[in-house]
Amino acid sequence: MRHQLMREFDLINRFFRRPSAGTSGVDVGIGDDGAVLSASPGVDTIVVTDTSVEGVHFRSDQSPHSIGYRALAVNLSDIAAMGGLPRWATLNLTLPHAHPEWLGAFADGFFELADRWEVTLVGGDTTRGPLTMTVTVGGEVARGASLLRSGARVGDMILVSGPLGGAAAALECSNQADLDRALQYPTPRLMLGQSLLGVATSAIDISDGFLADLQHILDQSGNLGANIDASTLPLFDAAVRSLGRTKALDLALYGGDDYELCFTVPPEKLSVLKQLKCDVDSGPVCVGEVVSEKGCRVHGIGDRYERSGSGYQHEW
Ligand code: ADP
Ligand code: MG
Repeated sequence: MRHQLMREFDLINRFFRRPSAGTSGVDVGIGDDGAVLSASPGVDTIVVTDTSVEGVHFRSDQSPHSIGYRALAVNLSDIAAMGGLPRWATLNLTLPHAHPEWLGAFADGFFELADRWEVTLVGGDTTRGPLTMTVTVGGEVARGASLLRSGARVGDMILVSGPLGGAAAALECSNQADLDRALQYPTPRLMLGQSLLGVATSAIDISDGFLADLQHILDQSGNLGANIDASTLPLFDAAVRSLGRTKALDLALYGGDDYELCFTVPPEKLSVLKQLKCDVDSGPVCVGEVVSEKGCRVHGIGDRYERSGSGYQHEW
């Protein structure tokens, strides 16, 4: 199939330049050398960025709509983990081809989520090369109120915002709608993140695997440990049905790409959680407790269960 030659500026104007007039905080968006943003008084700015690479973060046969959605979603998930409200984004896009159909669907996926959260695309860069996208998002949070990884204390409860292991399970079974949705269309837990301000002592979004990401909280909170009751970990029914409970649990503990929040709450604040506005149907689930003894101990899976290694790390 022959495609019309598309130049960089035509491409930007056609697919990524949208009217941003009236968007508060964006004085100059796409089209100049830089974007000009004005911060609201009394807030801190949170900046997050994430790169998605074909073959590593998404498959080439995945729908371009889901690739565009996911590139923004993983960044919004980081904003959620900080308790922030997302405001603006930049998109650095490296493309092997400029197929209008592909780009149209990619942009639709990206803007579907951007519009839902009133995030304005304020700039980016477009280059030719292997399919890769880097999204940067700026968000706001009341001054000094950001949720950090470093605030967990001994005795805090450990919670997760929703079922784990679905994205990893999707890679092992085919045509399971719930699992495919978890992999391709993760929901950034922005509402929950904001309502955890003043309630949670620490938070992280689960991108590399539950135990690996929980470990970051424990390390950064002063080398603490955790007791986890694996029987309380929320799983996907479809994963348990297709792969069996042991495998589904393994993927929930180590799999990654969940984009649920893992956070710690002092016991006296647990009751507040029940009244929170939350973007998760089932509500957060308590899965363990922070303890002073270093290391993560996982109970409730029987004694023949062994697994080494933790989480996903890029290796060269
Ligand atoms: P410069 O050469 O000054 O870096 P460019 O010519 O690369 O600027 O980009 C022109 C404008 O288009 C800038 O405002 C830039 O932020 C924006 N832009 C470029 N690529 C994208 C993209 N993929 N999505 C959104 N905005 C983009
Ligand atoms: Mg440029």
